[in-house]
Amino acid sequence: MHDLPCSSPGPGGDAPDCRRRAFLKVLPAITAGAASLAALPAEAASDNAKPHWGMLVDARQCIGCQACTVACIMENVVPEGSFRTVVSTYAVTTGEGAAAVTGTHVLPRLCNHCDNPPCVPVCPVGATFKREDGAVLVDGERCVGCAYCVQACPYDARFINHHTGKADKCTFCSHRVEAGLLPACVETCVGGARVFGDLNDPKSEIRRLMADAQDELKVLKPEQGTRPQVFYIGLDDRLQGKVDGTQTPALSGLTWQPKSHGG
Ligand code: SF4
Ligand code: SF4
Repeated sequence: MHDLPCSSPGPGGDAPDCRRRAFLKVLPAITAGAASLAALPAEAASDNAKPHWGMLVDARQCIGCQACTVACIMENVVPEGSFRTVVSTYAVTTGEGAAAVTGTHVLPRLCNHCDNPPCVPVCPVGATFKREDGAVLVDGERCVGCAYCVQACPYDARFINHHTGKADKCTFCSHRVEAGLLPACVETCVGGARVFGDLNDPKSEIRRLMADAQDELKVLKPEQGTRPQVFYIGLDDRLQGKVDGTQTPALSGLTWQPKSHGG
């Protein structure tokens, strides 16, 4: 059994070393002005008989309980210290001086199953690929563990599994989806913050919710041109670009910094 993360390693990041409650007391605040990135996700595909899987995360519904994190670890036998999904926790300050108010914001994270995934072309043996149904997967038989894809991902969504020596990441629980089940994180989410479904089906719940929240939809790091298929509602602008995978000074306001990949 893995310890429940107190907060915020990236999906490919290292293990936490504190309990959440204690950690929240020392959260550094993000006080920089909002980096408003207005770019919206690519248009959802039109009606199409074949599914194109995606996820919608409603950050307003997430209570940061990490039930999804634990469910994923158990379902996918993720090695200790590594994560395929995790909920990062940030302190965000609004206003200045005496009027400043600091609140806690959460950012559920996983592989974005990008439609233009930079992890795919760098693989020298064709082990990383995007399937027709939208899932970006790793063929463990082919993977040689070179970690080029880990380096190429701007979202820190991959790691080298120290048990298998292969690249590892979220698969959208493809084994469950193929059996007609929901991904484990979706099934477990107590707040109903994660909605999984077919982006090609205009009648699907995910399409309906995305249409309802059209003006609020965000993806992480839209400027990277990766066309993520994980969409967010209720995400603070200041968190939209603040995910690991690109170490820049702008990240210094995060509550955590992974020290290594894959534990
Ligand atoms: Fe690849 Fe990273 Fe995009 Fe996932 S989030 S498809 S690992 S680039
Ligand atoms: Fe390809 Fe595996 Fe190397 Fe990633 S670690 S680039 S999947 S061979």
